[in-house]
Amino acid sequence: MKIIFLGTSASKPTSERNPSSVALQYNNGEFMLFDCGEGTQRQMIKKVSPMKISKIFITHLHADHIVGIIGLIQSMKLNGRTQLLQIFVPKDTLEYMKTLFSIPYFSADFEIHIIEVFDEKIEFDGYWIKPFPVSHGVPAVGYVFGVNDSRGKFNKKLCDELGIKREMFSILEKNGKIEVNGKEISIDEVTGKLKKGKKIVYTGDTEKIEIFPEEAYHCDVLIHDSTFISPEDKKETYHSTVKEACETGMVLSAKKIVLTHISQRYETKEVEEESKKYCENAIVAEDFLEINL
Ligand SMILES: [Zn+2]
Repeated sequence: MKIIFLGTSASKPTSERNPSSVALQYNNGEFMLFDCGEGTQRQMIKKVSPMKISKIFITHLHADHIVGIIGLIQSMKLNGRTQLLQIFVPKDTLEYMKTLFSIPYFSADFEIHIIEVFDEKIEFDGYWIKPFPVSHGVPAVGYVFGVNDSRGKFNKKLCDELGIKREMFSILEKNGKIEVNGKEISIDEVTGKLKKGKKIVYTGDTEKIEIFPEEAYHCDVLIHDSTFISPEDKKETYHSTVKEACETGMVLSAKKIVLTHISQRYETKEVEEESKKYCENAIVAEDFLEINL
């Protein structure tokens, strides 16, 4: 599984940073996007296939997080896409999202489902999403993306010894047990150690929040709004400082903290130096940063 940062700037792009978007490549080759700011599809070139994107998770409807969707859908259409695209948006924003699609002469030619979310966990094949409310002055959610635990590989030698072969493997997978030569064998007896799933938390834009769902704790990666260094620059905006993002990472016991949505007023080095005052496991996102999990 791989996280690819496609856009890491706060509202305005810079020569180095594009507006917000994070791609996630799941183990089966499927891609998902978290937010889709202006120019996201150009950032995707050579990194993310538009045809393999199954889902787009939108944190909130500020333009720097959504206006890339139209161009991206246009490209999907030109490429002859037929596969369904699911777009997840915060509760009470469905109608706003639909207005984005009301520009002249726009059509998709494939199914698009827009689904409102608030805090209900949604299960998919092998992974799940847990949205949670954040504080950004407009309807806004963050997302925990989780991969289910998976069992270890079959112990080939042991399977041979027990006489498990060919289609017996799929029966074992399906039923969790099988009878061989009059003896019942469970799948746990012939497979390796459980492989622990992974968790990624993406806050989108938010001021510091105190309440997270239990799923967010002990995450492998926390991707947090870090728009500002100083509270003076932050003023009353609904964003976070580097310090606040680091503190949140420590509260959640995140293994790695990735600071993103960086204001154009700062150099990356300044943000890095600021983060080192509070935690060692924080890095500053840059466009095209990749993290393998
Ligand atoms: Zn915003």
